[in-house]
Amino acid sequence: MINEWDITQINQAKLKEQIPKVAVLGASAIEAHNYHLPEGQDFLHTDAIVKRVSQMAWEKTKSVICLPTIPYGVDCNLMDFPLTIHVKQTTLDLMLAEIIESLAHHGIKKILLINGHGGNDFTPLVRQIQSDLDIFMFWCHVYEVGQDKHREIFDVVDDHAGELETSMALALFPELVQLDQANNGAFRPFQFEALEKGWIKTSRKFSSLNDHCGNADPSLATAEKGKKYLDFICQRISDFLIELAGANINDHFPHAPQIKH
Ligand SMILES: [Zn+2]
Repeated sequence: MINEWDITQINQAKLKEQIPKVAVLGASAIEAHNYHLPEGQDFLHTDAIVKRVSQMAWEKTKSVICLPTIPYGVDCNLMDFPLTIHVKQTTLDLMLAEIIESLAHHGIKKILLINGHGGNDFTPLVRQIQSDLDIFMFWCHVYEVGQDKHREIFDVVDDHAGELETSMALALFPELVQLDQANNGAFRPFQFEALEKGWIKTSRKFSSLNDHCGNADPSLATAEKGKKYLDFICQRISDFLIELAGANINDHFPHAPQIKH
């Protein structure tokens, strides 16, 4: 069966009938994740989410297309760990800008980028590309879409290779998870209160945190928690895609017609 929501499967004959209104693509990374998760964790969970939300939204709109997830991300601060692959943000931005120019050339004006790696930051790109091209670009972090549910679903609110990521892995690709090999994620905090509190920021070199490239405890992860989180965020993202596909682009899009007092 051909998945018409997948750009790698749909054919030209179908595309000549109709060009989809919304394109979806993922950004991710190949990097070490403690000792128990695969190097492709971010690519695998992002690609699964991108495909699932595209299919869900396509079933309601017949006007969504998903592109292959970009597998590489910004990882210069994890390079002390084996076979972590680093691609500069400027390279990612350049590649994304050219992909989006191609989509715009073919008449797709609404694009959603789903990011599944904490080291990528597309805020400046989205700001710039909307000024340069006649398109509307939206983006989200997989970890933030369901942030208001974290405390409800998970026991600890955590970070790299912890309960959330491990739970998603157990739900999506349990055969690649080796929890018995996991370290507990204990790490060196910052020595400055300003950095710990977050009102002064820096970039963390992960090999200064500990020796295993995880900074959160994965021991409470379960497939059920992962499924709950994925179901929740995929519903949220696909609801947004359905709204987006149906919305008309006018002078104030994506803002509401009325000024609110
Ligand atoms: Zn990750």
